[in-house]
Amino acid sequence: QPVVVVCVGMAGSGKTTFMQRINAHLHAKKDIPYVVNLDPAVTHSPFQSNIDIRDSVNYKKVMEEYNLGPNGGIMTSLNLFATKVDQVMGLLEKRAAPDPENPAYKPLKHVLVDTPGQIEVFVWSASGSILLDSFASSFPTVIAYIVDTPRTASTATFMSNMLYACSILYKTKLPMIVVFNKTDVKDAGFAKEWMTDYDAFQKALNDDEEGNAFGGQEGSGSGSGYMGSLLNSMSLILEEFYSHLSVVSVSSMQGTGIDDFFEAVKEKAAEFKRDYQPERDRRR
Ligand code: GDP
Ligand code: MG
Repeated sequence: QPVVVVCVGMAGSGKTTFMQRINAHLHAKKDIPYVVNLDPAVTHSPFQSNIDIRDSVNYKKVMEEYNLGPNGGIMTSLNLFATKVDQVMGLLEKRAAPDPENPAYKPLKHVLVDTPGQIEVFVWSASGSILLDSFASSFPTVIAYIVDTPRTASTATFMSNMLYACSILYKTKLPMIVVFNKTDVKDAGFAKEWMTDYDAFQKALNDDEEGNAFGGQEGSGSGSGYMGSLLNSMSLILEEFYSHLSVVSVSSMQGTGIDDFFEAVKEKAAEFKRDYQPERDRRR
């Protein structure tokens, strides 16, 4: 049974570049994935998709026809596409089923899914949930949360980004791999340290000028005042959140860390079968 890898992340975090990289990696190993593009607004895709939302909805026309701006256009395109989810699942299941007629048949191991640049359009829309739930009801499904590492280097942006990831985990109820991308520009060592060493993050909070700027009373660091106690509570929540994650650092540009990513996919797929699937079945 293939595992579905759904790439989500802030606009510009590098989802599409990452997709291209993992797609090329699997092709090089003759382990051809099935690729789904759910971004209606991408103008040129650097990889070939087996299913492409752009084949069935024209985002520009949708904007014109319904008098929408870019976000509304993406949302409506996704809604229109979600009405065809049965066809999509039909294609996926057909490809995933063994083909005894074909001697060259190789089992499908990965389905890779790219999502719209605007993360909220996918994660917080009914159509996004419908698509994710359909994947997860047929196959082990994991979320790859792509992080723009150079842009998350301050304690404030880091914490916001991780809380966002936490909310996605809670919303989707799927196992998650946090992918620190663009490590050719900035090493993710700081992030890994903050995620494993509570004291190191507290210290960074206290040292960080941005933390101080939030501190409330003059001269108070982030360790005191309302903002300080909020930060402390949030980092305790995050500590619990981190313990359920796989974390990898990659450069989609240079191709480093991709083996680690696929190791994490294996782990999380096993976790899906062990913990998530029974829970999903129970809720249905
Ligand atoms: P998306 O909106 O999440 O799909 O992001 P894109 O894949 O379109 O990438 C956004 C920008 O980040 C582009 O200019 C990419 O070239 C750049 N980018 C993506 N991955 C990397 C990386 O690993 N290293 C560097 N330096 N730039 C990257
Ligand atoms: Mg993209």
